[in-house]
Amino acid sequence: MIQQEKYVNIKKALKKELEKERYQHTLSVAFTACSLAMRWGVDLDEAYIAGILHDCAKNIPDEDRVKLCEKWGLPVNKTERKNPTLLHAKMGAYLAKEKYGIRDEKVLLAIESHTTGRPDMSMLEKIIFVADYIEPYRTKAENLTVIRREAFIDLDKAVLRISGDTYRYLLSKTPENIDPMTEEVFRWYQKEVEDR
Ligand code: FE
Ligand code: FE
Repeated sequence: MIQQEKYVNIKKALKKELEKERYQHTLSVAFTACSLAMRWGVDLDEAYIAGILHDCAKNIPDEDRVKLCEKWGLPVNKTERKNPTLLHAKMGAYLAKEKYGIRDEKVLLAIESHTTGRPDMSMLEKIIFVADYIEPYRTKAENLTVIRREAFIDLDKAVLRISGDTYRYLLSKTPENIDPMTEEVFRWYQKEVEDR
């Protein structure tokens, strides 16, 4: 059961903080994450709060990100310097802890890895990674219908398809901006799915 009253203040703050569409996306990820959590036996509260907060740093202007990360003591790599939007995941985990008072490391990690994913993710991380991609307001990605179905049948395969599609898409559009982690995740899940 989701303890809604616990999150009233967080939701109020996020509604103010984020653009309308981003806030809608946030709620949509939270409920999609809960549906996946029901299917895969993950705590609904954790799925909900990670979903609500996953993009909580998305409104920060890209030109401020590197400086803020330095101030907050967060490491910034070469790819992130070139493409600071990537930092919203790491900064989101930081704000979730410092501003919104979330102490659950599982939740913070799911926020941190939601954009590129990570090899060997926890169930909660996979759920947030996948929910972010398939939530009902999403329309642009290829294979959405297939991935939405797959997410409830074989979560690792859904992660593989998302990371593969993302990797190929970025390779065709902005190869200079790809985070090496995107390829690493794709290869890792390819092997994971093949080897079983
Ligand atoms: Fe995001
Ligand atoms: Fe998102």
